[in-house]
Amino acid sequence: PLSRPRSAALYEEALKHIVGGVNSPSRSFKAVGGGAPVFMQRGQGAYFWDADNNRYIDYLAAYGPIILGHAHPHVTAAIVRAAENGTLYGTPTELEIEFARMIKEAIPSLDKVRFVNSGTEAVMTTIRVARAYTGRNKIIKFAGCYHGHSDLVLVAAGSGPSTLGIPDSAGIPMSIANEVITVPFNNAEALEAALAHWGDDIAAVMVEPIVGNFGMVMPKPGFLEALCSLARANGSLVIYDEVITAFRFHYGAAQTFDGLEAPSLAAIEPDLTALGKIIGGGLPIGAYGGRKEIMEQVAPLGPAYQAGTMAGNPASISAGIACLQALREPGVYDRLDRLAARLEAGLAQGAREHGIALTINRIRGSLSTHFCDHPVTDYDQAQDTDGEQFARFFRLMLEQGICLAPSKYEAWFMTTAHTDEDIEVTIQAAERAFAVMASES
Ligand code: PMP
Repeated sequence: PLSRPRSAALYEEALKHIVGGVNSPSRSFKAVGGGAPVFMQRGQGAYFWDADNNRYIDYLAAYGPIILGHAHPHVTAAIVRAAENGTLYGTPTELEIEFARMIKEAIPSLDKVRFVNSGTEAVMTTIRVARAYTGRNKIIKFAGCYHGHSDLVLVAAGSGPSTLGIPDSAGIPMSIANEVITVPFNNAEALEAALAHWGDDIAAVMVEPIVGNFGMVMPKPGFLEALCSLARANGSLVIYDEVITAFRFHYGAAQTFDGLEAPSLAAIEPDLTALGKIIGGGLPIGAYGGRKEIMEQVAPLGPAYQAGTMAGNPASISAGIACLQALREPGVYDRLDRLAARLEAGLAQGAREHGIALTINRIRGSLSTHFCDHPVTDYDQAQDTDGEQFARFFRLMLEQGICLAPSKYEAWFMTTAHTDEDIEVTIQAAERAFAVMASES
C-alpha cells in the first residue's frame, strides 16, 4: 500500500489555517471514515501525484470538469496565452462572444447566456430570474439533487409532497426553507401533487435532467416530459441544472442527448439552464441562459440584478473554448463510452466473483458504484446502500493508486486521457479490493 506521511503532515498543518483543512467539504474524508485526505501536487493526463509522489489513476476528475485529463496541452496553451495578455479587464471581450456562440450552437434552448464564476452562482441566478419573470416565489426541486450551496437549494424535503422544506444547513432561515418544496426524483405523481397543492406560488421546477449527485441516474421514460408539461400547465418555468451533465455524454447537454428517451426533444426543452464544470476547461466558471424573453429580465435590460467582477474573465473563457474545441473532435465521446463500458463489465464481474452486491449505473463515460442489491433510480435507493462497504472499497482502491471521490454518491468519470491499460489496472485493483472485502465479511 502507498504511504502518505507528507499528506498526513500537510493535513495537520492545513487544519491550523483552513477550516476543516479543506476548501470544500466534499474533499474531506469525513464520509469515508475520516483521516487525512490526499494532498495532490501535480497532474498529467489521467494521473495525478500526491505530496509523497505517489501516482494515482484519477477517476475523480475534480468532480467532473477534467474531462480531458490534467494539463491538456491545448487547454494549457490557451490559459498561458490568456495570462500573457492580462487576466482581467472589467470590460467585455470578443472571446466571450465566441464562447457564447459555441455554447448556444450546442444547446439551442439558450437564446441568451450570461457567464458567471461557479455552478452555484448559475443556479442561484436562474431562480432569481424565474421569480422575476413569473412574479412567484416558490420552487420545487428533487430529493438528492445538488444545486450548489445557495440558500434556496440547500433545503431538504419535509414529509410528504405538499410539505415545505427544512433547512439542510445551519444559517438558512425557515422563511427561506418555506419557499422550497422537495419531491422524489422520477416520481411525476409527487410532482403533480405538489403543483396541485402550491399552484400559483410555484415560480419554477428545478431538476438535474440526468442526476449526477446521488450516482448517475437516468430519468425514467416519460418523467421529464411529464415534468415539463405539468410545470407549463401550472405557469411555472422549468430549470435544468446541467452543471454536471453539459458536455458530459456528448457534445451538447442532457437536453440534446439522443440517449435520453424523448418522443420530441423540443417538448422537453427547459426554459432556463444552468451550466458549469466542463465548460471552464478546469478553470472557475458557470453560465446560465434560456429563452430570450426570460433572460431579458436580467440587468442591464431588466429588473433582475446579477453581476460579477470575475465573470467572463479571459482565462476561464479561453480555457472553456479550448476544452470545447477538443471535445468537438470526432470519436471523443465514443471513446469515453467504450472505456467506461469495459470498466463497468470488469467491476461487475469482479464483484460477482467475490459475492459482493454491486449496482453500477453507467451513462456513457460516467458510472456510479452502489453497494446494494437493488436498482438506484431515486435518492431513497441511493441512501439505502452500504456506506461502510463503499468506504472500505474506496480505501482499498486508494492504497493501490486508484483515486475515486470519497463519497458513495459520486460518480467515476472517464477522461480522454485514460487508456485501456489504465482500465485494466483499475479492474485488477478492484478485484483485489473485492477479494479483501469478501474475506473480511
Ligand atoms: N449543480 C450541480 C448539478 C452540481 O453538481 C454542482 C457541483 N457539484 C453545482 C450545481 C454547484 O457547482 P459549483 O461547485 O461550481 O458551485
